[in-house]
Amino acid sequence: MRRYSGALINRSHADRQFLLAPGMARRHSLLASMLPEIENLLILQDRDQRIRSYRTELAAVPAERKTREKLIADSAARLDASKRRLREIEVERKRLELEATAKREQIVRYKLQQMQTRKNEEYAAFNHEIAAAEKLIAGIEDRQLDLMGETEALAPATAASEQTHASEKLRYESQIADLEAKKTTLETGLADLESTRDPLTTPIDPDLLDRYERLFKSKNGVVVVPLENDVCTGCHMKVPMQVGLEVRGEKAIVHCPNCGRMLHLPA
Ligand SMILES: [Zn+2]
Repeated sequence: MRRYSGALINRSHADRQFLLAPGMARRHSLLASMLPEIENLLILQDRDQRIRSYRTELAAVPAERKTREKLIADSAARLDASKRRLREIEVERKRLELEATAKREQIVRYKLQQMQTRKNEEYAAFNHEIAAAEKLIAGIEDRQLDLMGETEALAPATAASEQTHASEKLRYESQIADLEAKKTTLETGLADLESTRDPLTTPIDPDLLDRYERLFKSKNGVVVVPLENDVCTGCHMKVPMQVGLEVRGEKAIVHCPNCGRMLHLPA
């Protein structure tokens, strides 16, 4: 990510260089033999493609940020759930312990009362009550064992996921910081590119500019394309011979009869 930001800064730097006179001069000399309209449109198209790619990258930043925020939140939620379960188990174990103690005390009381009775029926009834209470205690003890087992498994897992969560949180937060830095770089670069776009349109005829701008939107940012071996490199269709001749003549803007893009000779 950091390397990427660096690359962006370089690109933005290159853009600034491009705005300077020497860059322009170099570009002009490269395109010296071209139809001036095509040459101006190519310069504008290059700018517009950069603006478009900056905008696309900027538009992707919030989703990229959200993805990482969700990863942090999900891992925090998983950790919280484990901790909550451990607390629940603790509460439940205490409650069961109290319940077992109460039952044991009840058995002691039954036994005392049983010793005091002289009626066989009552004696048997106490036996019945004591057996029922002992059965309940056995059930409670089983449940306590289950909960202890659950704690033994969950406690180390929770400790491990606490560590994982801490390190992943750091990692994602650092990625989010990188994204923010990338966003700032992109915004600065985009502002540079946009604020200096107008002068590039000045030498272009308004009707031609309008045609170009409509095509830029409808043709995915690729309007002025080289004709190579009579094939339009925009739509990859072979153009009629006459069209090839017109392009080579460099007298006027020639559109591809298939896709409508503007054709120029390869540099
Ligand atoms: Zn075409």
